[in-house]
Amino acid sequence: MPPTQLKASGKGAQPVPFIDLSRDDRVLKNEIKTAALSVLKSCHYIRGRPCVEFSEKFASYCGAKYCVGLASGTDALFLALKAAGIGPGHEVITTPFTFFATAEAIANAGAKPVFADIDEDTWCISPAKIEKALTPKTKAIVPVHIFGQMADMDPIMKIAAAKKIAVIEDACQAHGAQYKGCGAGSIGLAGCFSFYPTKNLGACGDAGALVTNDKELAERVLRLADHGSKIKYIHDEIGVNSRLDSLQAAILLAKLPKLDEMNNKRRAAAALYKKLLSSINGLVLPREAQGSRHVYHLFSVRVEQRDRLKRYLDEAGIGAQIYYPVPLHLQEPFSSLGRQAGSFPVSEQLCREILSLPMFPEIKDREIRRAAKTIRDFFKN
Ligand SMILES: *Cc1c(COP(=O)(O)O)cnc(C)c1O
Repeated sequence: MPPTQLKASGKGAQPVPFIDLSRDDRVLKNEIKTAALSVLKSCHYIRGRPCVEFSEKFASYCGAKYCVGLASGTDALFLALKAAGIGPGHEVITTPFTFFATAEAIANAGAKPVFADIDEDTWCISPAKIEKALTPKTKAIVPVHIFGQMADMDPIMKIAAAKKIAVIEDACQAHGAQYKGCGAGSIGLAGCFSFYPTKNLGACGDAGALVTNDKELAERVLRLADHGSKIKYIHDEIGVNSRLDSLQAAILLAKLPKLDEMNNKRRAAAALYKKLLSSINGLVLPREAQGSRHVYHLFSVRVEQRDRLKRYLDEAGIGAQIYYPVPLHLQEPFSSLGRQAGSFPVSEQLCREILSLPMFPEIKDREIRRAAKTIRDFFKN
């Protein structure tokens, strides 16, 4: 087929957005409005009743005893590390294939991020590579449940138990994901969540939370997030301001009962993509590990000709994005850690080949079909 005809295939057809937050269902939108209005009426804007109620409900949703509402997922990671006593002189092992905030929180806590490469199949941190990165200074491991699939937690917890170090789950992309029946965030010492608007459970602004089964840790995070204070104007330690506000909590409370349904819609969309894109030579589909419930925060495929395919999809009006173009050890602020290109080959290759396709709960089957057909057309050439 000549290239002009190829381009024409997308013309006239409706664009397929990468994500469209405006499509949330009308009933839910009304519930959100009512919830928000009741906060405006109450004038109790910070750590009000909805914050307490959301914390209780979200802890139980995750299968954890406690939940502390915070200002963001980044703060949840930072405060989990701080509350676990991690700081200067300590090393924390994490994956180079994640959003910048994971390692940024480690650095901001005063510790040194130490990267360990990822598993070829799940794209999460490899337990075998963690073993190799351990030193006497290692005080914690931060696995990231990337794209909505949990890391291989059993061997990670085993390593941590043997070394008596903490595991802090970065569950910012994995609300409702499961590993052998356990909820994301409920296995390690703490689980950190982001409610950034595009996450599986999203607020209408920045918000986050930490879940844990450790009462002392929960109390310390609650205090640290309010300037190290439990009793007003009495400060026990230096903290930060990272309180969850009532407006976001009320909105999250309205959306939480729909989370499983929204995740099931993501899973159905993923299943349709997989059916339509199977057996394409040169395209690797995301794999769901045994015993894992993937919640497809992103639906990402692996393609050698990634940049060409992305341009082709762009021209056809199909939103595709790159998460993530650069692994963290090659980001400027971490260059002082001394890791160069070639240090983590699996992550580096994935950053060259990964492409995320349109994915959100309300995506339509015909949109998935059109995206998949465009990809098949690309590979026919
Ligand atoms: C979104 C995200 C964060 C940060 O969450 P914010 O709420 O934006 O601060 C951290 N880690 C991962 C893996 C994320 O996807």
